[in-house]
Amino acid sequence: MTSQRQNTLDNRLDNRLDNRVINYLRISVTDRCNLACRYCVPKGILPSLSHDKIARYEEIHKIVMCASQIGISKLRITGGEPLMRKGVLPFIESLSHIQGINEISITTNGVLLESNIDKIVESGINRVNISLDTLKPERFKFISGKDHFKTVWRGIMAALDRGLSPIKLNAVILRGINDDEIEALASLSLTYPFHVRFIEYMPMGNSDVDISQQVLIPEIKDRIEQSIGELQPVTNKSFESINTIQQNEAGPARRYKIAGALGEIGFISPVSSHFCNQCNRLRLTSTGKLRPCLLNNREIDLLTPMRQGASDDDIKEIFILAVRSKPASHQLNSPNIVDTQMSTIGG
Ligand code: SAM
Repeated sequence: MTSQRQNTLDNRLDNRLDNRVINYLRISVTDRCNLACRYCVPKGILPSLSHDKIARYEEIHKIVMCASQIGISKLRITGGEPLMRKGVLPFIESLSHIQGINEISITTNGVLLESNIDKIVESGINRVNISLDTLKPERFKFISGKDHFKTVWRGIMAALDRGLSPIKLNAVILRGINDDEIEALASLSLTYPFHVRFIEYMPMGNSDVDISQQVLIPEIKDRIEQSIGELQPVTNKSFESINTIQQNEAGPARRYKIAGALGEIGFISPVSSHFCNQCNRLRLTSTGKLRPCLLNNREIDLLTPMRQGASDDDIKEIFILAVRSKPASHQLNSPNIVDTQMSTIGG
């Protein structure tokens, strides 16, 4: 390639957007899940996608190679339930060898955590996020459709024993379902080094939850402060004064600590206080589409061009197009509401 053409390409491949470096890719490796959480999966039976529609490991690997060359350095593997896909841990291990990738984390419901913990530790995964909406086994079954609370808790303890850190526990609070457990879930951060994170319910697609059940972060925060103690900001009190790269590292959670606690409490508020202007991520759906924003229906197909022979530079250019297409803010509050399910995109 001539140096002039290389220069032009380098300019086109700049992955900065405004003052942000888009360095984080969330990859959904499957649309399948072994739970059916009522706020996540659509009502009724959602047929799984056929295998040929799902990006193969070698295709995702190639995408990550290209992405790493234009500045993606952090990966989160999600789904569906990522640990359900056969061979996912050796695959993740192979991603950890890609130059430029310096952090790989996984989001899991924890059902297969204990049985895979050794392989997880060996695979190069730095951190795990585990969904945990309740501490009551019966309620776990009501929310997720499966009686797996004890298995998940054993998985969390196995992750703790093996030194994965920090372990982030994600809870979606819904009125009339688990809002009486806000304090109990938050209190886990007192005695364990967990980062307990409360995520606002996002009404996406046709789920079994009504918008009136949404509990927003200000209410959750008040309840914790009244019952457990003052929430002291960890890094985010100085969020505005830190530089863009540090903000990227901080992620969307507003982080706090109760005095003397071993862990932290985080709040993710896409609804009540969105963080779009700090968003540093792109998503790759299980069907190989780049999604610039979780809460906006726009997707850019990567898999079809790849299967038609797209070159590495073509792939990088599609990535940059996705970066440039990141909307100024999400569409959750607009009439053009997101119609895709979280389980398909990968939360
Ligand atoms: N199966 C994995 C798990 O359960 O963590 C990964 C996929 S799941 C879609 C990822 C995260 O999205 C979970 O923490 C889940 O609680 C969250 N989530 C799913 N639907 C949501 C919704 N409608 N609003 C807010 N969070 C949601």
